Amino acid sequence: MHTIKNYINGEWIDAHEGEFQTLFNPSNGETIGEIPLCDFNQSRQATYAAAQAFQTWSKLPLPKRMGFIFKMHQAMVDNHEMLAESIAVDQAKHISEARGEVQRVIEILQMACTIPALIQGETITGIANNISGRVVRAPLGVFCGVAPFNFPALVFGWFIPFAIATGNTFVYKPSSDSPIFMQKMMQLIHESGLPAGVVNIVHGNRTVVESWYDDDNVVGLCLVGSTPTAKAMAEGCGRSGKKAMLLGGAKNSLVAMEDAPMDLLIENILISGYGSAGQRCLASSNIIAVSEVYDEIVERLIEASQGVTVGDAMNPNVFMGPVINAAAKERIEGYIQTGIDEGANLALDGRNPSLPKKISNGFYVGPTVFTDVKSEMTIAEEEIFGPVVSVMKVGCINGALRVVNKQKMGNGACIFTQNSYYTEKFINDADVGMVGVNVGICAPHPYMPFGGVKDSLIGNNKVQGKDAIDFFTQNKTATIRVVDPEGGQGPASKDTSVRSCVAS
Ligand code: NAD
Repeated sequence: MHTIKNYINGEWIDAHEGEFQTLFNPSNGETIGEIPLCDFNQSRQATYAAAQAFQTWSKLPLPKRMGFIFKMHQAMVDNHEMLAESIAVDQAKHISEARGEVQRVIEILQMACTIPALIQGETITGIANNISGRVVRAPLGVFCGVAPFNFPALVFGWFIPFAIATGNTFVYKPSSDSPIFMQKMMQLIHESGLPAGVVNIVHGNRTVVESWYDDDNVVGLCLVGSTPTAKAMAEGCGRSGKKAMLLGGAKNSLVAMEDAPMDLLIENILISGYGSAGQRCLASSNIIAVSEVYDEIVERLIEASQGVTVGDAMNPNVFMGPVINAAAKERIEGYIQTGIDEGANLALDGRNPSLPKKISNGFYVGPTVFTDVKSEMTIAEEEIFGPVVSVMKVGCINGALRVVNKQKMGNGACIFTQNSYYTEKFINDADVGMVGVNVGICAPHPYMPFGGVKDSLIGNNKVQGKDAIDFFTQNKTATIRVVDPEGGQGPASKDTSVRSCVAS
């Protein structure tokens, strides 16, 4: 059994009123622990601790601050397998993918180690006699972050290293469906000697998040989650004037042109459509094929999907684990029924998939393929967040772009082609935040920004890269006149341009 605790001001503590939520292993449906649910007061206790810690953390010499980021990186390298297993247990991400997620966070931490080079300010001399201008990048205070269930490690990497390396402190709420990674990671951070209050973990539901909107100790909130949650948080942050970085849901397309490299294409549809059981913000759930290759893709995709094995996320011999919980299974199966009702052809039904003998329980949906899907059908428009792939036929690149661009969400889209005209047109005209060319999952490397457009990103701030530095710092501008102690104000005082510059 996993005992999950809050971590506030350097100490592991239980929920105030003893309220808990049960934690399940989705691979077998068994109870594996309890998560304490924070109330309003406990949440405020965490932000207060973070505000106190900010006073000293923000003034700590940069090499000392960065020392903790290096330690975080090393701790992840040294504990790679243990951390991957923590993700495979409660989130039930297949162990091979869980290892990949941990590796990606290690790369994010490598990027975070370059932060001293990225937060350097600018100076301009000679604005007027003896006057120069300087822009510094300063930390802001306490940020709070909210994670989705499907990337417990990645979202930690997107928020915490960037926030604290730039001098802020942090309060983090993992998803109540996948808290174990952060429990293990926080223990490693604790052992590294990070000062109390710099990073705090609070578990719970929306009550925790809502307590932050009018909390004077909090300067900004970040979320990775569904679009309705992002919009609710945008409202709360807007009312109280907090900074917000809010990544929302997704409905991604993969476009296959007549010259698509076919083996690569099919392999990538399997990885991006069924990886993490389709519970990825960059899952390709709509496959848009031009008519020349539509039949071949349908035939090969069904055959390949039939070969996708489903089972316990810790079983190295299966391709795909379960979905996160019973409600998700029910929702996905509901979408399959809607697809049938609206006239799509269910070419492969993932309900009641065949499972290894010893599995008698758990939340499983197998690979599901719909063909003859029309872009106005519910399954083509809404985020299903499960292993369901819809194949659509279009006439040409313009038809494909029309389907991509009519989506309300605009996280990612990929094109498979060897033609540079199609490639450039797609990069320019696809109305999404992240484009892939001959790659199934277009997740940008940590050096580059990650985030969508339209309903996939509420506001304008993205994670990773220089965008993350912009979000977690403020530009402060100084106008400086150097006065000669021997000569009073000197000639500068007669210079009218200086007077207007300083007065304005
Ligand atoms: P969710 O929106 O249900 O929950 C995310 C977090 O927000 C949880 O910690 C939850 O406790 C909290 N929350 C829920 N409702 C809230 C509310 N009204 N106010 C404040 N907080 C609230 O999302 P989920 O089901 O955990 O994760 C899946 C979703 O996340 C999908 O929509 C997926 O596309 C999205 N996602 C997006 C990205 C991206 O990069 N854009 C990455 C991963 C996941």
